[in-house]
Amino acid sequence: MTIKVKNPIVEMDGDEMTRIIWQSIKGKLIRPFLDIDLKYFDLGMKNRDDTDDRVTVNAAEAIKKFSIGVKCATITPNAARVKEYDLKQQWKSPNGTIRSILDGTVFRKPIIIKNIHPGVVAWEKPIMIGRHAYGDIYKNSELLIYGPGTAEIVFTPASVGEKKTVLIHEFKGPGVVMGMHNTEESIRSFARACINYALSEKVDIWFGAKDTISKLYHGFFRDIFAEEVEKAQDAIQSAGIQYRFMLIDDAVSQVMKSKGGMLWACMNYDGDVMSDMIASGFGSLGLMTSVLVSPDGKFEYEAAHGTVMRHYYEHLKGNPTSTNSVASIFAWTGAIAKRGELDHTPEVVIFANTLEAVVVETVESGVMTKDLMLIAEPKVEKYALTEEFIDVVAERLRAKINSQS
Ligand code: NAP
Ligand code: MG
Repeated sequence: MTIKVKNPIVEMDGDEMTRIIWQSIKGKLIRPFLDIDLKYFDLGMKNRDDTDDRVTVNAAEAIKKFSIGVKCATITPNAARVKEYDLKQQWKSPNGTIRSILDGTVFRKPIIIKNIHPGVVAWEKPIMIGRHAYGDIYKNSELLIYGPGTAEIVFTPASVGEKKTVLIHEFKGPGVVMGMHNTEESIRSFARACINYALSEKVDIWFGAKDTISKLYHGFFRDIFAEEVEKAQDAIQSAGIQYRFMLIDDAVSQVMKSKGGMLWACMNYDGDVMSDMIASGFGSLGLMTSVLVSPDGKFEYEAAHGTVMRHYYEHLKGNPTSTNSVASIFAWTGAIAKRGELDHTPEVVIFANTLEAVVVETVESGVMTKDLMLIAEPKVEKYALTEEFIDVVAERLRAKINSQS
């Protein structure tokens, strides 16, 4: 007996080792249990090249239509990949393309497993990070200053108003300057995406900035965030969650001392740096999930790691691999649970929760891939190979579902 899923999920296939895992997950953990219409887009490197990357745009449009997508990791080509795959050109990052079409914000969430201990002892629940992925130093203009002179910020209005000039510094000798910007529209959509995500995860929102020093720039972020929170006050209250604004320094020290279980909304640079700190603090890249949320409530789920190229080349040589599939499985369960929630089909949500529980129990029982074995406590004697892990999960999932019905 399979469970009927009312509406489709957009499935995006990918590259290398994760493409191999993807097939197994779908074949062994999803298809046998769910009757689901998957709108399939092959974002593998070759097909992106063959379609002049049209397939990525089509996939993003499909997510807009069906609201939910699940994506396998994909190669972002560099010069070496252009050669390796004989590409027509160095295609852009598919994630970047999808993000700009959906106007989304990326949230990362670690998977918590009892015998895999975070380096930070206080952390018991996931710390989710939402990174504003537009502007600031990532779209800056910089200038080396060779000698004495005046550096200024000048704004020239396109139509009405006066030209404005602000002194940056009177240089007495060599130095450096930088100009950066952000837009109200982008900050608002970031704030809305954070609110949507926190409502969907039922966690508090923390937002930190340095508004004591940067009264206008960081103050602008603080004010816009507060306005969007105010607009969503009813939903926030009925979800029983809270919004806290704090100085970024305070946020950092509070996060380290906390038990976790909050969404930490970060400005672009803070999110870039802090997401790596949080990921390594929680243990392994193979346990980090990622979801792109758009301000109008579209969701795209994936693992935070890449295509695990090194393992793929071992696999091609015929050598056994031990690649962690947990984050990829959770990409599927994230998408399926959200589908069930939007469709009001609790049995679909229950299936996703059951699969997640089985994965966690499997690792807790000592069956895990090599990356986790290295950090497991109590220690385990041997690690599972890529397929072995998925097979054990499939077997236990079947047993659990049979015992429930
Ligand atoms: P990666 O695929 O994340 O892997 C880096 C290393 O981290 C691996 O070699 C492995 O270490 C470890 N690792 C990552 N995920 C693992 C897993 N599931 N199980 C076990 N170990 C895991 O990063 P990369 O090798 O730098 O990038 C490879 C390709 O992925 C690139 O073409 C890049 O463009 C792409 N990429 C895609 C995405 C995405 O689609 N979202 C994100 C990042 C990168 P050991 O080798 O020590 O075992
Ligand atoms: Mg980073």
